[in-house]
Amino acid sequence: MKENGRKQGAAAPCAACKLLRRRCAKDCVFAPYFPADEPQKFASVHKVFGASNVNKMLQELPEHQRGDAVSSMVYEANARVRDPVYGCVGAISSLQQQIDVLQTQLALAQAEVVQMRMRQFSSSVSGNTAANSPDHNNSSPSSSRHTHHHHHDRSLFTMGMIIDHQGNLGESLWSC
Ligand SMILES: [Zn+2]
Repeated sequence: MKENGRKQGAAAPCAACKLLRRRCAKDCVFAPYFPADEPQKFASVHKVFGASNVNKMLQELPEHQRGDAVSSMVYEANARVRDPVYGCVGAISSLQQQIDVLQTQLALAQAEVVQMRMRQFSSSVSGNTAANSPDHNNSSPSSSRHTHHHHHDRSLFTMGMIIDHQGNLGESLWSC
């Protein structure tokens, strides 16, 4: 079995050696990670990093980490080919922005929960006296107060999101 595999390896060069038009040696550093049936993987990393740089990066790593390194190089190279300006930074910064927006939403939702608990607490404490209050005779003060609060909460929410969004556009792009 082993001899058979070696014979096949000698007959068909790996994707890297095929593209570079060189003989695929038995100890070829590319062969385990760039099989002949996936030529696009090496084409991308060769275009973006250059074959000699990929070779150097693999040689500098222990063998058990080379597979992961190749995966990340292929991902980065494909992103760079798709988006020549931002590459994978485009994906990273858009995900970072999503995290920032969601964290703001979470903080606002948590603040709202605290507010609602406080309202519930104060209404349960003053519940007995409210029924005897003279304000009760006025034309529905509780419902108008409620809509006012609701509107205020909403505008605060959208404002916070816009500020957060703009504030992080430049920052998350250049801070990494
Ligand atoms: Zn090879």
